[in-house]
Amino acid sequence: MIGFKSFADKTRIDFPGGMTGIVGPNGSGKSNIAEAIRWVMGEQSAKNLRGSRMPDVIFSGSADRRSLSMASVTLTLDNTDHYIDTPADELLISRKLFRNGDSSYFINNKQCRLRDVTDLFMDSGIGQGSLSIISQGNVEEIFNSKPIERRSIIENVAGVYKYKQHKLTAQRE
Ligand code: ATP
Ligand code: MG
Repeated sequence: MIGFKSFADKTRIDFPGGMTGIVGPNGSGKSNIAEAIRWVMGEQSAKNLRGSRMPDVIFSGSADRRSLSMASVTLTLDNTDHYIDTPADELLISRKLFRNGDSSYFINNKQCRLRDVTDLFMDSGIGQGSLSIISQGNVEEIFNSKPIERRSIIENVAGVYKYKQHKLTAQRE
């Protein structure tokens, strides 16, 4: 991350195999890390990133530091198991945004369309709109949801939802 939310300086965070916990005081940037991942994978809603407009993700300055004009995040994925359906053993997905709204996406350092990033994660269960990242707000939503809604969330995660849809379609035909 460079210039993304509270991460003004270039910050690299490794997620080795297994489980990684990120701990720190309130406001230290834990959620910002999850949002950086969500953003680089193509998030289009500023609201889902707790902003009102997309440029709100750019470092806006602090008591002793001027604001920056660009935010950039690169996600490096070990793809040696080809979990993501592409021949590359390593995937670098990058997104850049300038204050004037200019925005660009890159896969393995080659500029591409948002669509290419979205397609890359399609069917992987980890891309845009998936439930692989649950934000603090979502947790509350899940707790407060009615049993029927909660069931559909669980079905969605378990991959049952798509079969239910197929069944409904078949029954209609
Ligand atoms: P909590 O434990 O309360 O959930 P957290 O560790 O998840 O806290 P975050 O919500 O990730 O903390 O970080 C919030 C901090 O990020 C705030 O101090 C906020 O000012 C800062 N921040 C958010 N957007 C920007 C921005 N564009 N520029 C600079 N700082 C920002
Ligand atoms: Mg948080």
